Amino acid sequence: MARLLLIEDDVAIRSLLVGALRERGHAVATATTGMRGLQSALDDRPDLVVLDLGLPDLDGGELLRMLRAVSAVPLIVATARDDEAEIVRLLDAGADDYLVKPFTAAQLDARVRAVLRRGAAEQADPTIVVGELRIDPRSREVRLAGVPVDLTPREFDLLHHLAIRAGQVVTKRELLSQVWQIPYGGADKTIDVHLSWLRRKLGESAQQPRYLHTVRGVGVRLSAPEDAA
Ligand code: CA
Repeated sequence: MARLLLIEDDVAIRSLLVGALRERGHAVATATTGMRGLQSALDDRPDLVVLDLGLPDLDGGELLRMLRAVSAVPLIVATARDDEAEIVRLLDAGADDYLVKPFTAAQLDARVRAVLRRGAAEQADPTIVVGELRIDPRSREVRLAGVPVDLTPREFDLLHHLAIRAGQVVTKRELLSQVWQIPYGGADKTIDVHLSWLRRKLGESAQQPRYLHTVRGVGVRLSAPEDAA
């Protein structure tokens, strides 16, 4: 279920959509003019806005730009014109999706759920950012200041594990058990060797660390250069 705001001046379309969307479990607020819609989008903070472009007081495209200047709320435009150039303009202006009238409540509901799913997936982006280091566990790509860093699978796992715990000292025992899946100690040398390879690829050394800091007798800490002190 989502909290929707429907900005639509046509009473017949509005009551049809409101009824159908409520039947599908959404909470629906409505506005019949652009200015009231804008106000409601700001005051009531809906999960998603459905915006009819043909409003009595404001051009829908104009309203879209006004709304985007102050809010990132997911938004679907409903347009009466199946005009490709117009649709591209609306998407460029910040609409997340569009529907051409006439459309059914089922179509609108499907678009609403798709846009909200996309938003949730973006929020769940697992990329870890530490200073200028970006670690994407889905693609297993690492970039340092935008430049790809070529790591072996083990080096990636080591860096990723340290990045999850960025700012904290991770013990060698934990690294052995989590990254190497070796439950008992005794392979410190393996970690040291991999750390030195990783350092070289990140353009630093144990003597002049930037991201990888050895804490003698305890373990390793990954932190951004500006946070290292
Ligand atoms: Ca209208």
